[in-house]
Amino acid sequence: MKKVVKFGGSSLASARQFKKVESIIRAEKSRRYVVPSAPGKRFDNDIKVTDMLYDCYETAVMGQDFDKKLEKIKERYNEIIEGLDLTLSLDEDFKQIHDFFEKGVGKDYAGSRGEYLNGKIMAAYLGFDFIDAAEVIFFNDKEEFDAEKTNKILSARLEKVEYAVIPGFYGAMANGRIKTFSRGGSDITGSIVARAVKADLYENWTDVSGFLVTDPRIVKDPEPIETITYRELRELAYMGASVLHDEAIFPVRSEGIPINIRNTNDPSAPGTMIVESTCKKSKYTITGIAGKKGFATINIEKDRMNTEVGFGRKVLSVFETNGISFEHIPSGIDTMSVFVHQSEFEEKEQKVLAGIHRVVDPDVLNVESDLALIAVVGRGMRSTRGTAGRIFSALAHADINIRMIDQGSSELNIIIGVSNDDFEKAIRAIYDIFVTLRL
Ligand code: ASP
Repeated sequence: MKKVVKFGGSSLASARQFKKVESIIRAEKSRRYVVPSAPGKRFDNDIKVTDMLYDCYETAVMGQDFDKKLEKIKERYNEIIEGLDLTLSLDEDFKQIHDFFEKGVGKDYAGSRGEYLNGKIMAAYLGFDFIDAAEVIFFNDKEEFDAEKTNKILSARLEKVEYAVIPGFYGAMANGRIKTFSRGGSDITGSIVARAVKADLYENWTDVSGFLVTDPRIVKDPEPIETITYRELRELAYMGASVLHDEAIFPVRSEGIPINIRNTNDPSAPGTMIVESTCKKSKYTITGIAGKKGFATINIEKDRMNTEVGFGRKVLSVFETNGISFEHIPSGIDTMSVFVHQSEFEEKEQKVLAGIHRVVDPDVLNVESDLALIAVVGRGMRSTRGTAGRIFSALAHADINIRMIDQGSSELNIIIGVSNDDFEKAIRAIYDIFVTLRL
């Protein structure tokens, strides 16, 4: 059994958190490859080390004195080192960082030092090998992650090492320049390492006990999700549910390695398993509910639209030339609506409407705004009768007007459009009918 364990910033924010992490790692010999984030927040108004580094670097490139800011960052690390009774000194590293900041080597280098230094501390504390991610994680000349080169070099390197710490979030380009993933990217590193060592499991340790059926800011104490498939997760994540970085599922998915989201502050909780496929039914017909506000819809009507070959293409080409991506296109015999992000659409609104007039000459063309989309996701829906019916009656009882319905062809989700004002109420109504009442 071989596991890759990734720890998020709040799990490594202080010496106290490091101690929890150590006992988690020592509890199982199979936890062999450790991917740390940079120290996160210790309390609500605290600042993440990554943000401190970006800020410090900005000061440096403006030619201002950044010594104090860098000293504050050093203090964060020294506090951890002292709290763990380590003899490690990061003086040389900080000298080099100072030097490189003065030379203006790049924002990515600056951000990456958070995980680099935390990785060094973690390796010293555990007695594991330290492997600099710049030597094993690669980006190509277009600054895109180079999955194949990385996998080849990383797996060869790790084959020779039994226990190692590989800092998250960054890698290097062929010319040696440091490049980071987008924010929260240590999740991706963990997944890349899991793929490279063909791990049995990728454990992602954070500060919540896994995914919840819906947003706890909308429903009080929602139930946790025990098992979710990669595809269900994609649907929910796209609609705004966030615990794991969007891109983190791809490397492990190609090898069928499950991800287990766990809570460093409650290690006995089983968390959420993310798997390719499962015969385990969700506890409730649905797996999760997520949604987003801020959509607009462009409604087009034209007699005999259905007989006009290429109508849809012409309409969509207008969105394409204006650089707007669409979300959904519900259609009727003589009607077609295009859902878009309102913020993206607003500034180009008149151009798009004029464009549609030009290409299809509609009978009616109007815009509705301030809409929200809610995705009800669940692998169990395909084999259950009446899921849609229950959603609609729950919304009707809550006095909510449904503005759009779209069931994906995978039958994995039902998307419902409501007005922004009804968003929270609609989510609560759907949650209640499936989870609270378990209908
Ligand atoms: N430290 C980085 C960030 O704050 C990456 C990570 O934590 O995954 O975004």
